Amino acid sequence: MGQQQPQCIITDQCLGIKKACPNIFKNSVHKYCMWYIIQKVPEKVGRAICNDTDFMTDINAVVWDVDLEPEEFEQNWQTVIEAHGMQNNRWLKYVFAIRQKWIPAYFRDLPLGCLLRTTQRSESSNSYFKRFESHFGTLVEFWMRYNSAVEQQRYSQRRMDTANEHSMLEKVGPMKVELHASLVYTHPIFTDFQKDVKHAICSMGVGGLTTLGVVEYHDVHDGLKHRNFRVEFNIKTNESKCAYKLFERHGIVCRHILWVWNGRQVYKIPEPYVLARWTKKSYRSIVQDETRKVIEDIDEANTKKAEKSKVWSEIYATVGVMDNYATVK
Ligand SMILES: [Zn+2]
Repeated sequence: MGQQQPQCIITDQCLGIKKACPNIFKNSVHKYCMWYIIQKVPEKVGRAICNDTDFMTDINAVVWDVDLEPEEFEQNWQTVIEAHGMQNNRWLKYVFAIRQKWIPAYFRDLPLGCLLRTTQRSESSNSYFKRFESHFGTLVEFWMRYNSAVEQQRYSQRRMDTANEHSMLEKVGPMKVELHASLVYTHPIFTDFQKDVKHAICSMGVGGLTTLGVVEYHDVHDGLKHRNFRVEFNIKTNESKCAYKLFERHGIVCRHILWVWNGRQVYKIPEPYVLARWTKKSYRSIVQDETRKVIEDIDEANTKKAEKSKVWSEIYATVGVMDNYATVK
């Protein structure tokens, strides 16, 4: 990671990790995974309440709502707790007390790159590698299986790179900025971007406009959320900021900003709003260390890996039978 610390670490509530994080990653923010907390609810408040009432639906609606500001979250949480008579539940009191560690309302502008729950990616990685793993495999077998898993991922990557390079997805609407997005973004990111383009065309409307110097404040009415979101737009620099904070969280501009840009003839996504990690170019970069020395070139890495695999195959063919006695538990 080029000596950079992660901006955010999301884990379960393991005490060891809680203690270690600030010591090791001094610049990182440590948060708890919402999924791990929410899955404990039935055990902590009683299964009957969860099965026979709307408590789970109500609490989930408050917890997962990324549009809420902290005050709105606190108000909605209290409403649900009171409506279900849960004011005296100690565990609910505790998770509310640590709300800043796991409720998105408190870190809406933290760049998470679409990663709100650890389960979304880490758990899918776990299940991916599990397909190649066996509890009774030897160390050599593990190495071979791991290599197969990585190779399969690299193959998928190459297929996607080719698709990105040699094909273009169809536009969904008349917004000119969509054409620019199709040229810079990878297909999966462009597909996400198109959802916002569609909504910007169909579901946005004027809520109000005030101007202060070179900055316009557009109150954009969002027909999907049934509320207004304020977009700050600098008419000189095209600098844009929305109260919805989608760009801050995911690195993709939201439908409200797109709507303002369309009205102000911004037909190219301004450079600061195109994150390198979502672009077609990002796949082709090489890995450098802190002194900018190249430490991994994709082609070179593949050659080395093939050589290593050959060596391991030879070792396995020779000592594989002996290794079976020293199984890895
Ligand atoms: Zn927005």
